[in-house]
Amino acid sequence: MATLIDGKKVAEEVLAECAQEIAELKEQGITPGLAVVLVGEDPASQVYVNSKARKCAELGIHSEKIVLSKEATQAEVLETVKRLNTDPAIHGILVQSPPPPQINEEEIVRAIDPAKDVDGFHPENVAKLALEDASGFVPCTPAGCMRLIKAAGVETSGAEAVVVGRSMIVGKPMALLLMARGSDATVTVAHSRTRDLAEVCRRADILVAAVGIPEFIRADFVKKGATVIDVGINRVEDATAKRGYRLCGDVAYDEVAEKAGSITPVPGGVGPMTIAMLMKNTIKAARAAKA
Ligand code: NDP
Repeated sequence: MATLIDGKKVAEEVLAECAQEIAELKEQGITPGLAVVLVGEDPASQVYVNSKARKCAELGIHSEKIVLSKEATQAEVLETVKRLNTDPAIHGILVQSPPPPQINEEEIVRAIDPAKDVDGFHPENVAKLALEDASGFVPCTPAGCMRLIKAAGVETSGAEAVVVGRSMIVGKPMALLLMARGSDATVTVAHSRTRDLAEVCRRADILVAAVGIPEFIRADFVKKGATVIDVGINRVEDATAKRGYRLCGDVAYDEVAEKAGSITPVPGGVGPMTIAMLMKNTIKAARAAKA
């Protein structure tokens, strides 16, 4: 049976580091500030935005939640971002995804000052990640996955890593982090056009699932003893659950846990790490703004 990689516990360690760093910054008269812009009323987005604001409050990070109507125009969102770019109390800005269809998300991301782009989605930060320039911001979810892999004591150097998914927010940056000098994994990125996916996945010493399909990764995709990182957060209907649904990952947890060496659960795996790394990035932005 696999060892559980406890994301909640590792996230608490990261947050304890954050608390220490915030105390140091406050001694210098700096309070890190994060602005979260929400366009529309997507219920899942509201949950995410509220939990980010709550975490900021717990840590003593100044936070602003800016809610624009679901009819907001591109110009209004851009205006909001521009205002936040020049606000000295705000060090980090993120616009919660997905925005309503009239909004061009790419243009919004490009409008964010790269020095405040704590999501790490601005092309300048994407380039810095590819260049292994540590001054950039790394997207929070893959950064959290790397921290979990390290916390689990898994050797990445020379390891075969397979990342299933090539999105700009998870799969692609995850692959870059695994292959970067210092991590030194041999990385394969799989996606919907990959042939013989199960066979490709079975090569992996480290298997990262970021697919967005509930329980997609089955036991026969997994090499015995592999480390399995499940990024997926899926709502599946469940009449026995209070809310009428339950959360599950992209990995069929029960059967994969029988075979893997270590595995992250959902919930309580990658999810708590994402928010912890966002706090880290906000602190990094505040520190860089001071310098
Ligand atoms: P995307 O939908 O942007 O990307 C999914 C990727 O999976 C794509 O590259 C797609 O391939 C690939 N894929 C889809 N179907 C298959 C298939 N049948 N076989 C192989 N590959 C396939 O999703 P995200 O990267 O944004 O998110 C992935 C998951 O992670 C979701 O469940 C999401 O909810 C979760 N998530 C969790 C976070 C957290 O904090 N824990 C944060 C962000 C996301 P192709 O490119 O060819 O279409």
